[in-house]
Amino acid sequence: MTVKTIITEPNKMLRQISKTVDRVGKQEQNIMNDMMDTMYEANGIGLAAIQIGVPKRIIVIDISKEEGKKNPMYFVNPVIKNKDSLKATYEEGCLSVPDQFAEIDRPRKCEVEYLDYNGDKQLLKADGLFATCIQHEMDHLEGILFIDYLSKLKRSMIIKKLSKLKSNTAIL
Ligand code: ZN
Repeated sequence: MTVKTIITEPNKMLRQISKTVDRVGKQEQNIMNDMMDTMYEANGIGLAAIQIGVPKRIIVIDISKEEGKKNPMYFVNPVIKNKDSLKATYEEGCLSVPDQFAEIDRPRKCEVEYLDYNGDKQLLKADGLFATCIQHEMDHLEGILFIDYLSKLKRSMIIKKLSKLKSNTAIL
């Protein structure tokens, strides 16, 4: 298990559409382990494989708040089956869009079909923060970031800020 580098915006890779996983095997489980380690290390509650440079339809989530009570969840090829017409608003951030936050509206409930860590098919109902988190991570699989829901002006300001930050940073 390895903590990987998280790719940050602007980066073309984050705009890629991730590929369906044919089969959940050892290799995919290793990716999931690395993703979970990377997410915990960065204090995130969700991560998509593309954020560590792997264009596969895999996301990991742990929204448990209490220290020492982990609840890691793994989703392979997630598909939203149903979503609520009512919206919920959360202030979102993203490990690939460092230090930027914005209020985003999303369906407040959703039903997701996916393969779990062992490759078994699961159907899960999510609401609240969990529903928002799943939808945010699933957007990554389509190359969408939460800042894409903002006005063009707001989004370009954020991207400019991040580019500047990048050019001033030497990661050694
Ligand atoms: Zn994100």
